[in-house]
Amino acid sequence: MSDTIFGKIIRREIPADIVYEDDLALAFKDITPQAPTHILVIPKKPIPRVSEARSEDQSLLGHLLLTVQKVAAEAGLTNGYRVVINNGNDGGQTVDHLHLHILGDRQMKWPPG
Ligand code: AMP
Repeated sequence: MSDTIFGKIIRREIPADIVYEDDLALAFKDITPQAPTHILVIPKKPIPRVSEARSEDQSLLGHLLLTVQKVAAEAGLTNGYRVVINNGNDGGQTVDHLHLHILGDRQMKWPPG
């Protein structure tokens, strides 16, 4: 599997503003924030995207959502937030390592762009 910039962040080869870490997941601030609060939650396992997750990843995928919940609470997003997973080219994915965007501290619109 090819490495990505998020793999380098996991291995501390490049810096990131890390806000949460456990055995399975890492959360850090997005370098180009699209909202006043914009945090990425990633698995340490290098799953490229949702469409390439396997049944064996079931509990890890659940863990990522519960990590979103924890990180959002720690960020003080008491009035709600948006969770986004871009998948593949049409989904606008630019980094081939699964990541969940947490966007908050502003009113989101629908439909998304
Ligand atoms: P996506 O377009 O869903 O693949 O999202 C990739 C996200 O990674 C974008 O929001 C980028 O701003 C963000 N990003 C890329 N490089 C870094 C980095 N070195 N540190 C933090 N966020 C990054």
